[in-house]
Amino acid sequence: MIENKRISILGATGSIGTQTIDVLQDAGAQAVALTTNRNVRLLEQQARALQPKLAVASDEAAAKALKTALADTDIRVESGTEGLLHAASLPEADMVVTAVVGMAGLLPTLAAIEAGHDIALANKETLVCAGGLVMQAAARKGVKILPVDSEHSAIFQCIQAAQGNRLHKIILTASGGPFFGKTQGELAGVTPAQALRHPNWSMGAKISVDSATMMNKGLELIEAMWLYDLPPEQIEVVVHRESIVHSLIEFADGAVLAQLGMPDMRLPIQYALTYPARLSCKTPRLDLAQVGNLSFYPPDGQAFPALRLARQAAGRKGGAGAVLNGANEAAVALFLEGEIGFLDIPRLVEQALDDIPDQAQPTLDDVLALDRAARQAVLRAKKL
Ligand code: NDP
Repeated sequence: MIENKRISILGATGSIGTQTIDVLQDAGAQAVALTTNRNVRLLEQQARALQPKLAVASDEAAAKALKTALADTDIRVESGTEGLLHAASLPEADMVVTAVVGMAGLLPTLAAIEAGHDIALANKETLVCAGGLVMQAAARKGVKILPVDSEHSAIFQCIQAAQGNRLHKIILTASGGPFFGKTQGELAGVTPAQALRHPNWSMGAKISVDSATMMNKGLELIEAMWLYDLPPEQIEVVVHRESIVHSLIEFADGAVLAQLGMPDMRLPIQYALTYPARLSCKTPRLDLAQVGNLSFYPPDGQAFPALRLARQAAGRKGGAGAVLNGANEAAVALFLEGEIGFLDIPRLVEQALDDIPDQAQPTLDDVLALDRAARQAVLRAKKL
């Protein structure tokens, strides 16, 4: 019963975090911890409404301001990575929603698993960087990793009908982002503002840029590989402009199952929290006659090389995911700051993948070192 669930939300002030709170408030579930990086105003409002035990701002100055803002309440305020790890491993929690963006989600996800908490996983970068370590830890602790990403939730929902049959193939759908149909030449001068204008989804800045480069689909390919234990060759990507078919699975006999719905993250968030139960959800209902046509296209590997780079990293398994992700995070940040062009993002990621030696079975320390090396490689290459 979701009403009895006590949930920690890491990244409560973000796009997924705020939608998770919307779902929780509707269902009457309890939030025991809420975290932000530095959005003190929103975290204060959320904390006053939900009365968690713990509120965390990773940024030290923000944590000070939050402490002052919540001084008249019983809510404990903490800061930094330590605070985030505490929110992830709070004994009072039944489940942790990992909605922090980027590699910053890895250590708290591992801490939540060690504490034995089931995970509603939005933070795909965690699996991209350290999928092997995370899945092994979850298996060892008997913890469920329930996907929040709409594509992986769709696959998970379809798998409920598999009756133990192995998947032959996963077909991930991709919206194609704001630059679908553009040539490489046309992409050279696109601005951060244009990249942030996604046609179907309203999301945080980093994932919006990832959608524009199609790196998001590459990260999702690696995420699917770890979640569903399939090699990258058995994970296909198809561009589907309307974002109605959220993804598909194929069985040995060729039968294909899909999950459909309006593009609204509250459904996959809610299913991760209520699984295996299904409750009424506020998302608008699908009206196929009104949608009319559904269109599908092969991805354009020429204009959007990021997907090929992710496939390359996926094929190597090992530490290449951490290099791909670290380089991409650094390059996206530079693009958003206006320091590099749009096409420099995949170029810098490819250079990092070429330059940094791979590691077959990386430990957590190796993953952290590969992430650092990839970020430094991007900063160095940018200066050239
Ligand atoms: P947002 O940028 O909107 O939110 C990120 C959250 O994490 C915010 O609360 C932010 O705090 C916090 N945060 C950012 N950096 C740090 C840090 N270094 N340490 C601690 N906390 C930090 O991201 P989204 O909600 O869009 O995405 C979150 C995750 O979910 C990503 O991994 C994304 O790929 C995934 N996802 C998102 C979807 C979406 O529709 N948005 C769909 C599927 C997956 P602050 O508010 O202070 O910045």
